Amino acid sequence: MLVNGAVVAGKGSSTAKVRSAEEIEQIRVLLRSRYTELDTEYEEAVAQNQRLRLVEIGDAAGDDQADSGSKTAERDAATSLLRTLHDRRTQAEHAIARLDAGTYGNCEGCSNPIPVERLEVFPSATTCVNCKQVRERRAS
Ligand SMILES: [Zn+2]
Repeated sequence: MLVNGAVVAGKGSSTAKVRSAEEIEQIRVLLRSRYTELDTEYEEAVAQNQRLRLVEIGDAAGDDQADSGSKTAERDAATSLLRTLHDRRTQAEHAIARLDAGTYGNCEGCSNPIPVERLEVFPSATTCVNCKQVRERRAS
């Protein structure tokens, strides 16, 4: 039964941590399709990256400075895209594992439930916004 797709804002509700089997199944389907999507994008990016390298090897001999500069930028962009896709794919995989373990939806940092609104936008989120920001600050 579809309850209007609305998020029930249960303030302080004690049932907030318990997700129905149906809900978990929905999230699983969502995460799987996201994972597949990212996997495809990643494979494409890998292929693209390899093409760039081949082109680079192919005509490195006749390069002037400006040429090799733009190629480096192109390759850097491709590499950072690869990294991003790889991270996202790992994240989705990780979220599926947490779903299987029954810990999905709780923040890995502070272990509070992650707001459903956030999970709807980022189904593979494993931290709340606060903890994510803390992590990012630490990483940079
Ligand atoms: Zn947190």
